[in-house]
Amino acid sequence: MNKRDYYEVLGVPKNATDKEIKSAFRRLAKQYHPDVNKEVDAEAKFKEIQEAYAVLSDENRRKQYDQFGHAAFQNGTAGGAQGGFGGFDFSDFDFGDIFSDIFGGGFGFDFGGFGSSRKNKAQRGKDRVIGMKLTFEEAVFGTKKELKIDLMDTCDECHGKGGFGAKTCDECHGSGTVTKEQRTILGVYATKTTCSKCGGKGEIFETTCSKCRGRGQIKQRKTLEVKIPAGVDEGNQLRLAGKGEAGINGGPNGDIYIEFTVGNHPLYEREDDDIYLELPVTITEAILGTKKEVPTLYGNINLVIPAGSQNGDKHRLKGKGIENVSSRRKGDMYITLKIVMPEKISREQKKLLEQLAKTDLDNNYDIKKFNDYLKKNR
Ligand SMILES: [Zn+2]
Ligand SMILES: [Zn+2]
Repeated sequence: MNKRDYYEVLGVPKNATDKEIKSAFRRLAKQYHPDVNKEVDAEAKFKEIQEAYAVLSDENRRKQYDQFGHAAFQNGTAGGAQGGFGGFDFSDFDFGDIFSDIFGGGFGFDFGGFGSSRKNKAQRGKDRVIGMKLTFEEAVFGTKKELKIDLMDTCDECHGKGGFGAKTCDECHGSGTVTKEQRTILGVYATKTTCSKCGGKGEIFETTCSKCRGRGQIKQRKTLEVKIPAGVDEGNQLRLAGKGEAGINGGPNGDIYIEFTVGNHPLYEREDDDIYLELPVTITEAILGTKKEVPTLYGNINLVIPAGSQNGDKHRLKGKGIENVSSRRKGDMYITLKIVMPEKISREQKKLLEQLAKTDLDNNYDIKKFNDYLKKNR
């Protein structure tokens, strides 16, 4: 396996400072975390990044690496279950601090999976992101929904233990790790690896739980009652704390994030907390003025259209918008007039319009301006 240069992996120069290395790692770890990044090779990349960081963040290891390259850590355990790098074994490297720094204290991340001892370590359950479709009205006024979701839950048969009749592992004597001597170019090193017999748990069972096949967790369909607050919008996320997948070894549950998509309204357009409505009026309504019944979120109102209204005139109805999901302040409603030309007219209407055409209707500023220009430029 051809390994990439550790500096290249983190995208930093050979003379990068500790701070630069740390910040490069933080950025890449966030980007390639397998819980976040769903690309096929995200996990492999994530491991590669971890490995590079474990070496370059340590003064001694970095020196060794600068001098000998990957050969410094070649110890002949290529491709084992132990991290699978065939190189530097960072089983004793503690990512805990920097990860809780990056991911806010347990992001559903499996610290145990990359070489450290898994001995009964409490792990937070995974977070889940669930999409939910709402109608326009449900988003505006809030609603209650039933959410059916398949979640990993603690196995009720073995209470999450994975088996029955636990006894101390005779291979590692309960420590979860075994120590191996390894020859490297720099001398003989003792390295710790996860015990393969107990998988790092330090204990084995007489019988494996058949319900969960030893995993300690089973997939279960759950129904959650979700109260959706008024005012949510497309792309908003609602967090249901502790409703995600069950933790392992007494770790806390993950969270559920509900991400909303909101359907369209037949008449309204929404922009944040404001509502936009295009109100069609006839030419006579615009010229003569009228009262129009207009639907708002809070019931119909009568809007006064003054005589001489123009196409595009705007009316603002203060506080008739959407209640903000956090501040609870209401947005506004904007009504834009759209003067609609009749498509077909009756013979009688035509007669009336012809009569109207004989009268002086060019008292409009734009028409005057145009006519004046024409007069001077004939
Ligand atoms: Zn079980
Ligand atoms: Zn063991």
